[in-house]
Amino acid sequence: MALSLTLARSAPDPRRNPTRREFLTASSLALLGAGVQGPSAQAPRSGDAIIDIHQHLNYTGRPDGVLLAHQRAMGVSTTVLLPAGRPVNRPSTNNGASNALEAEALGNEACWQFAREHASEYRCAANEVPDLDDTRAEIENYLRRGAVMIAEQKFGVACDSPEMQRIFQTAQDHRVPVLMHWQFERFNLGFERFHRMLEKYPRVNFIGHAQTWWANIDRNHADQKVLYPKGPVTPGGLTDRYLADYPNVFGDLSAGSGLNALTRDEDFTRGFLQRHQSKLLYGSDCSDHDGSGPRCQGSQTIAAIRRLAGSNVIERKLLYGNAKQLLRL
Ligand SMILES: [Zn+2]
Ligand SMILES: [Zn+2]
Repeated sequence: MALSLTLARSAPDPRRNPTRREFLTASSLALLGAGVQGPSAQAPRSGDAIIDIHQHLNYTGRPDGVLLAHQRAMGVSTTVLLPAGRPVNRPSTNNGASNALEAEALGNEACWQFAREHASEYRCAANEVPDLDDTRAEIENYLRRGAVMIAEQKFGVACDSPEMQRIFQTAQDHRVPVLMHWQFERFNLGFERFHRMLEKYPRVNFIGHAQTWWANIDRNHADQKVLYPKGPVTPGGLTDRYLADYPNVFGDLSAGSGLNALTRDEDFTRGFLQRHQSKLLYGSDCSDHDGSGPRCQGSQTIAAIRRLAGSNVIERKLLYGNAKQLLRL
C-alpha cells in the first residue's frame, strides 16, 4: 500500500491516468515488497537488483570497459549516465573551470550512444548549461530520445534564477525529474530559498545531491562553508524538512557527501532512512576503477544502506524500487 500511495504522491500530473506501464510497475513493486515474484515481464527479477542513478562516462578519464566492469563489480543492474553540459567559458561554468562537471564527464551525445549500445544495463539523462540560447532545445532533443531525467545540474547560478526556472519548466513539460548538485557559493545558490521553487513547481520532482544538500540534514549545521561535517546529527535540518514537507523532493545518496551523511551518525541514519524510505535513491558517483574495496565509495554506500535500512523492504526501495518508480525505468 505504501508504494501505491507513493506513486500517487510523486506522479507529476495527478489529472493524468496512469499508463499501463506505470500500473504494472506499481503492481510488481508491491509484489517485490511482499517478497513475491510478480507475473509481469519486469526485469530483472532478482531480489538483489540495484539501480545506480548517478554515474558518468569518461569519469576522470576512466575507460568505457572499466566503467562496465566497475558497475558489475558493485552489483548494479541498471546505471543512469549523467551528461555534462557543453564546454563554455562564462560565469555559470565558473569561467570554464566547471566544464565537464569538473570530472572530465562526457556530454549528451556520448552518453546517449553508450546507453543505446548497452541498453540492457544503461540509461542516460539529458543536460545542458542552463543559460544558453538553445538550452531547452538541446535538453528536449535527448528527452525525446529517451533520457530519463535532467541531470546533473551543476552550474554557478541561483536556484531560483530565470534560467533555472526554464529548466524546471522543461522538466514539468516532459514529466521528468531534475537532479541538482548543491554546493555552497559554487553550484545552485540559495538553498534556503529553494522552498519557493518547490511550491512554484509542485509537479516537478526534484532530486537533491552533493555537499550542501547532505550537510543540511543537521539542524545544527551552522557554517555553510563546512562541506563534509562529521559527528552527531540533530534531526530537523533544512534537507530533512524539505524531504518531509514536500512530496516533490527526493535525495540522491551518491558521492562522498552522501556516504558521509549515512555514516557520520548511524543512530540518526536509521531513523532518517525509515522516515524518508520512499524519497531516497541509491547513486554511486565514484570514479575509481575497482568497483569494490576502500577506494570505491559507491560500494561502501551500498553496504551502508544494507547495514542501516532496518528491513529488506526499505533496502529494496532505496537500492531499486524508488528509482524504478521515479525515473519510470
Ligand atoms: Zn555532483
Ligand atoms: Zn566505485
